[in-house]
Amino acid sequence: MENQIENLTFPIEGAESCPNCGCSERIGQQIINQLKLEAKLQMSAYAKGLLIKIPLFQALLGPLALKQEVPVIEITFDVCKECKTLYCLKIDLTSQPVEVKRTAFP
Ligand SMILES: [Zn+2]
Repeated sequence: MENQIENLTFPIEGAESCPNCGCSERIGQQIINQLKLEAKLQMSAYAKGLLIKIPLFQALLGPLALKQEVPVIEITFDVCKECKTLYCLKIDLTSQPVEVKRTAFP
């Protein structure tokens, strides 16, 4: 996976505190920390914040191969405890393998 796209080099670091009010306390992080204290979540989980992964399956429109990977945009984000602004902590471009199921044509 090419990790550079026209003037973008990944990972892109985002804000470390709220870009709106400057508060560094995050609601998601607080919930995650509490669940870790209660041993309901592994200590290593969500170390950098909440994470959403978006696989870009359109990439599969290319020539089929038995083992393929699709690009995945990973967005680490959280919500400011003070003003509730949702903001980005990090954006990364990775890839993940997908299983291509071949359809039998007569
Ligand atoms: Zn804020």
